[in-house]
Amino acid sequence: MQLLENKVALITGGSRGIGEALVRKFASLGASVAFTYSSSSEKATALAASLAPAKVMAYQSDAASFTQAEQLVKKVLADFGKIDVLINNAGITRDTLMLRMTEEQWDEVIRVNLKSAFNLTKQVLKPMLGARAGSIINMTSVVGVFGNAGQANYAASKAGMIGFTKSIAKELGSRNIRCNAIAPGFIETDMTHALDDKTRELYFSSLAIKRFGTAEEVADLAAFLAGDTSKYITGQVISICGGLNM
Ligand code: NAP
Repeated sequence: MQLLENKVALITGGSRGIGEALVRKFASLGASVAFTYSSSSEKATALAASLAPAKVMAYQSDAASFTQAEQLVKKVLADFGKIDVLINNAGITRDTLMLRMTEEQWDEVIRVNLKSAFNLTKQVLKPMLGARAGSIINMTSVVGVFGNAGQANYAASKAGMIGFTKSIAKELGSRNIRCNAIAPGFIETDMTHALDDKTRELYFSSLAIKRFGTAEEVADLAAFLAGDTSKYITGQVISICGGLNM
């Protein structure tokens, strides 16, 4: 029996980067996967089709919208019958120094990165409570723990996600619903490719393991937290950062 056999996972932001690796890994470990994207329709459709015969379906849904989250979960339940695992992975950056940061840049990052976790978690709770089982995984960041100049909005959203994770774990542990956070360091994706050479070098020099991480490595950790071999783990923030010392 494979690690995620018979499980249904809902993954936000699955069209690229870490989310795409999550979709591929979960499908390869026997899960059925519903994943969302914001605008990459072609990429998302191709990804879902490439994983057949595994049941993988793509949904366009803005994670920042409460109404869209409500509609999405209804559709996923109709298509898959249940949701065992939720991964709040969708995220964006709008990096700039605090002096220059606009209200819009602040609000956008908080809505997409943090409010999204509330939106989706709220919607999956009923089915998970009914099943008396569930694993919720929130994609935070080492930046949410250490802070980072030029990322006050992003760091605040990721720190908020950590408080949210620990609270949900305490509220729902007695119902067998677990909630953990993954805090990646520097992982090679579109998000980090957008950084300039100076920032990349700064990260690189602070690494114990002298290479950047891969999305697949993050997906391996998520698969462990989603599966039953981690059933006594909840309320934790697990860093996957190559020993990054910020
Ligand atoms: P990425 O390559 O930029 O991919 C972002 C994904 O999120 C895409 O699938 C995108 O969809 C989706 N997305 C963006 N806004 C959305 C919205 N409003 N609603 C639904 N989906 C939305 O990012 P990544 O590097 O894989 O990061 C994934 C997560 O890991 C993020 O939460 C990020 O903060 C976190 N993280 C990343 C790193 C890193 O080093 N890469 C480090 C720490 C934490 P479209 O393709 O349609 O745009």
